[in-house]
Amino acid sequence: KRNMLMVRSFTILLLNCIAFKLACCFSSSISSLKALPLVGHLEFEDVHPASKDFGNRYQLLPLAVLHPKSVSDIASVIRHIWMMGPHSQLTVAARGRGHSLQGQSQTRHGIVIHMESLEPQKKLQVHSVGGPTPSVDVSGGELWINILHETLKYGLAPKSWTDYLHLTVGGTLSNAGISGQAFRHGPQISNVHQLEVVTGKGEILNCSERQNSDLFHGVLGGLGQFGIITRARIALEPAPTMVKWMRVLYLDFAAFAKDQERLISSDDHKFDYIEGFVIINRTGLLDNWRLSFTPEDPIEASQFKSDGRNLYCLEVAKYFNKLDEDKKDVMNQEVKESLSELSYISSTLFSTEVTYDEFLDRVHVSEIKLRSKGQWEVPHPWLNLLVPRSRVNEFAKGVFGNILTDTSNGPVIVYPVNKSKWDNRSSAVTPEEEEEIFYLVAILTSAVPGSTGEDGVDQIIKRNKRILEFSEAAGLGLKQYLPHYTTRHEWRSHFGPKWDDFVRRKSRYDPLAMLAPGQRIFEKAL
Ligand code: FAD
Repeated sequence: KRNMLMVRSFTILLLNCIAFKLACCFSSSISSLKALPLVGHLEFEDVHPASKDFGNRYQLLPLAVLHPKSVSDIASVIRHIWMMGPHSQLTVAARGRGHSLQGQSQTRHGIVIHMESLEPQKKLQVHSVGGPTPSVDVSGGELWINILHETLKYGLAPKSWTDYLHLTVGGTLSNAGISGQAFRHGPQISNVHQLEVVTGKGEILNCSERQNSDLFHGVLGGLGQFGIITRARIALEPAPTMVKWMRVLYLDFAAFAKDQERLISSDDHKFDYIEGFVIINRTGLLDNWRLSFTPEDPIEASQFKSDGRNLYCLEVAKYFNKLDEDKKDVMNQEVKESLSELSYISSTLFSTEVTYDEFLDRVHVSEIKLRSKGQWEVPHPWLNLLVPRSRVNEFAKGVFGNILTDTSNGPVIVYPVNKSKWDNRSSAVTPEEEEEIFYLVAILTSAVPGSTGEDGVDQIIKRNKRILEFSEAAGLGLKQYLPHYTTRHEWRSHFGPKWDDFVRRKSRYDPLAMLAPGQRIFEKAL
């Protein structure tokens, strides 16, 4: 008993010593940081908002939040920590909109950089308007929705998007940036000409295919590990004004996937956007759709019954310009012909016409609705997977309607993309199979706060685990998109043949491992 008491007293003493040492460390860090000459400012008091993210499951409280007004503010803070050497506890997390799912944009006791504060006075700069390769220079903290609105003034727009545009350039380029245009243009990381990056040593470097190319490729899809993207030059194309947006239904996954693949493989690009989603255990669906999408044949559509079976919805869009009224008939005819080659259930063609920016900003409409019902800021235990083409039917058979029995708490998006549109030199990871096509499967479930049932966060996480275990046991060779792992072994296996380069770049550009600690890939060197 005496020994136990002694051990207990010793442990308490040790913990107090550590706490005291940390407190000393933090107070000396605070005073040295406060002395830095910055154009923007460091906030030490109101830091709670930076300890949250969209996933709503992880909360790491930072020591401070930097609101940079210039790139040199970011470089000064990082250089300062770099000069403190390996004994400083401080880490740095760039935060875009904080739409990460498992705390990737957070840091415990470190510094969060609020990227949206960066250079608000510096407007987006559009280059080569009217030329063959127009582009736009934007801040790393810029929202894609702002880029859309600004470039549309020149009749231009980026080529590749995400489904939701209230995300930042630095945030999506650190992952990949995938949407229904990726089959044609590749992900957003394939549509960047140049970056300005602040490395983990506080250097400000420009990089591109030709200049500092190792850093350029490393940063794209690099999960924020090698530097902070402060500026990016994004490729543009002439923007359409209108979009014909269509949905058709299938009862058979294989037929749905075959048609999706057929569409993304054709050279004449019959559609500009191709996605799809799975509908499990939902009733009244066709009625709901009629609110915005008109059925081609209302009578036939009203007779359609899914009888509780899974439905697979192919979603395609064709861009056009409002002024070209006579060309519209030709387009409609072409669309009809393209659709006639597909094997969807004929009574289930629904279509609508919207402006280009309405189409691209479509998820924001749902955001507004969910926010008004208090359903936006709930836990989001999402699971995003990249599945090899040759195994996607097996995946669908094992997961849809079996492990996943309901899609009423969030969409399950499924669509193929062409691997040749991804630059293998980037850090982004795709399935290792030598196949031209792989699928994105995004299981975007929202949890009901406080629920212990099937719709509660714990059960959804268990279900996600079952999906991963099933895929692992079947050897499907899938990769996580927006990955989350907790061990070095898992990260190594995630990156596969890219791991050695990833580690090499880390020791070259962020040797103290201070950047993006919320990804949990590297520990800060001590
Ligand atoms: P944050 O979440 O703030 O940051 C993400 C990571 O990037 C963190 O590790 C952070 O430290 C790092 N980071 C942030 N800024 C920088 C920077 N400037 N330089 C270096 N590192 C940086 N993704 C798709 O690909 N396609 C989609 O269709 C899609 N739809 C989505 C819809 C919704 C509703 C949501 C919430 C997310 C969606 N995403 C999609 C995921 C999105 O790409 C990620 O959430 C991504 O993290 C971008 O969010 P963010 O800008 O808020 O970055």
